[in-house]
Amino acid sequence: MDVLVVGAGIGGLTLGLMLHRRGIPCRIYEAAPAIRPLGVGINILPHAAKALGELELEADLARVAVLTREAAFFNRFGQLIYREPVGRYAGYEWPQYSIHRGDLQAVLLAAFRDRAGADRLQLGWKCVRAENGADGATAHFVHGATGEALAPQRGRVVVGCDGVNSALRKQFHPDEGEPRYSGVNMWRGVTRWPPMLSGATMVRAGWLNPGKMVIYPIRERIDADGRQLVNWLAEIETPHYLPKRDWARPGRIDDFLAPYRDWHFDWCDVPALIRAADAIYEYPMVDQDPLERWTFGRLTLLGDAAHPMVPRGSNGAGQAILDARVLADELGARRDPAEALRAYEAARLPATSKVVLTNRTMPPDAILREVKLRSGDRPFDRIEDLISLEALRAMSEGYKKVAGYDQATLAGGEG
Ligand SMILES: Cc1cc2nc3c(=O)[nH]c(=O)nc-3n(C[C@H](O)[C@H](O)[C@H](O)COP(=O)(O)OP(=O)(O)OC[C@H]3O[C@@H](n4cnc5c(N)ncnc54)[C@H](O)[C@@H]3O)c2cc1C
Repeated sequence: MDVLVVGAGIGGLTLGLMLHRRGIPCRIYEAAPAIRPLGVGINILPHAAKALGELELEADLARVAVLTREAAFFNRFGQLIYREPVGRYAGYEWPQYSIHRGDLQAVLLAAFRDRAGADRLQLGWKCVRAENGADGATAHFVHGATGEALAPQRGRVVVGCDGVNSALRKQFHPDEGEPRYSGVNMWRGVTRWPPMLSGATMVRAGWLNPGKMVIYPIRERIDADGRQLVNWLAEIETPHYLPKRDWARPGRIDDFLAPYRDWHFDWCDVPALIRAADAIYEYPMVDQDPLERWTFGRLTLLGDAAHPMVPRGSNGAGQAILDARVLADELGARRDPAEALRAYEAARLPATSKVVLTNRTMPPDAILREVKLRSGDRPFDRIEDLISLEALRAMSEGYKKVAGYDQATLAGGEG
């Protein structure tokens, strides 16, 4: 019997490819009637790049993504606090990719259709619930657009890769409360812009009050002038937010431009970058408390459905990719599917819970908070007078260990 994968997002498609590679047949059911290049930028850090490398996708990704060279931290006056090389530039065997989510999904989708067969992916199939049977599991569907009931599907297991608004998570945990608002609202956008800094720098600048910015390029040479597609994200502490998690909700410049009005730096004119955006979206920075369990017999969860997290450490897509690899390994190694799902949960639930909680308190951008506090939110003469390079490096390395992409973990084969 096939493994039934619910959702053809980043986690679901990666799982499909991982299963196919291990000779385990699967079918993917996606609610959307068509897969369109939705979203803006995301980062794939070396631990997830390693997993995608095992799927031999490195060349396809390198064609569409930016190979990130460095991470750089600035205060709200545009002064450099700390920079460090990342991915291959930091000596990892695997790169860091900054990529449009739609491009990543397109690479995974093309590989899945090519390798497993186009008929293994059904579009317009929205899962409404799943149940265990004597020697299998059944998923129930309605049509994604019309709501009309579709034929129930039976499989070896059902894996809910159905994202932040997961139907299966709601079924397993009906009494879970609303998502937890972090107090920070986000506006994300993309702008065609000339290369800045190294041309492949991930910038984090300022702090949440009055406003923080994350800026990085996600597509190279998009026109004859050599411009890039640059992703940016404004994060602002505010009690105002719209709780529904809708990736496509449009954002309005006037709602968030104010803290950035004077950010005319030699490395980027930030208000001009924002004003020139092709598209702007608003999204609340929310997550959910880690669950006690994801697995119920032959049913389980993966990716955002299992562990939605605030996007503070570039780990949302990465942790979904790691889940997919571990689940495929367990399904390949064990005869009893329920036992495989339990082993998957035992490996991945504690690891991802730590990332969810660390993203709340000590993500990589905590460097910015620290310098804001130590400087009294004023320009500094020399950063060394405020904080040592070793202390900055230790903060950055601490997060890498929690998320599983420090050099030692990856080189030791655990990542
Ligand atoms: C449209 C969209 C835009 C996004 N944009 C960004 C972005 O700009 N930046 C960012 O950091 N993250 C974005 N994300 C989230 C990001 O992709 C995930 O955080 C991460 O990649 C983990 O992937 P996932 O597979 O768990 O979830 P997702 O990649 O969200 O995939 C979930 C998939 O399940 C499908 N689905 C949902 N419900 C059902 C159902 N009942 N039955 C069948 N299929 C279902 C969805 O249509 C989607 O294709 C976006 C997600 C979506 C769906």
